[in-house]
Amino acid sequence: MAKDKQPKPKGVPNKHLHARTTFLYQAATYLTLRAGEPSGLALQLASDLHAVSRKGQVRLSSELKRSVCKTCYAVLIPGRTATQTLENESKQGKKPWADVLVLACTVCGTKKRFPVGAKRPKKKSERTCGLPAPRMSEKSSDGHHSAVSNSQPTPDQESSLM
Ligand SMILES: [Zn+2]
Repeated sequence: MAKDKQPKPKGVPNKHLHARTTFLYQAATYLTLRAGEPSGLALQLASDLHAVSRKGQVRLSSELKRSVCKTCYAVLIPGRTATQTLENESKQGKKPWADVLVLACTVCGTKKRFPVGAKRPKKKSERTCGLPAPRMSEKSSDGHHSAVSNSQPTPDQESSLM
């Protein structure tokens, strides 16, 4: 029965699920904006949206995930269904990288917190390529020994960082 499986179609996998989650999100946002508050239908649509992503194993975009309350599924619209405040718990707020954006759902009070001042930690690949090659560190600080017996500069010393 399962032997005659068709080859997977190319392109975006689960395209129909992406279309469905996008539609559900847009419909829930539209209904919330129109009513000024999350109506029962809007909450149902956003709840369906999460169900579709969970069961279909579709990853929702971070932007979409951030704008839906994970407790009551209200679409979080700052000024309508959510309040937006900036927190800074460093001493006297002196550290700008400690800024945290707090998005509070006005329906159920659940808060989402996003660090906004801090830089995202670099990926591993980005971190390692910036370091000098290990053999470069053996070189003394003055570096005059590079122009000794060879009239031509060794190309690999300069190009090793490329
Ligand atoms: Zn909520």
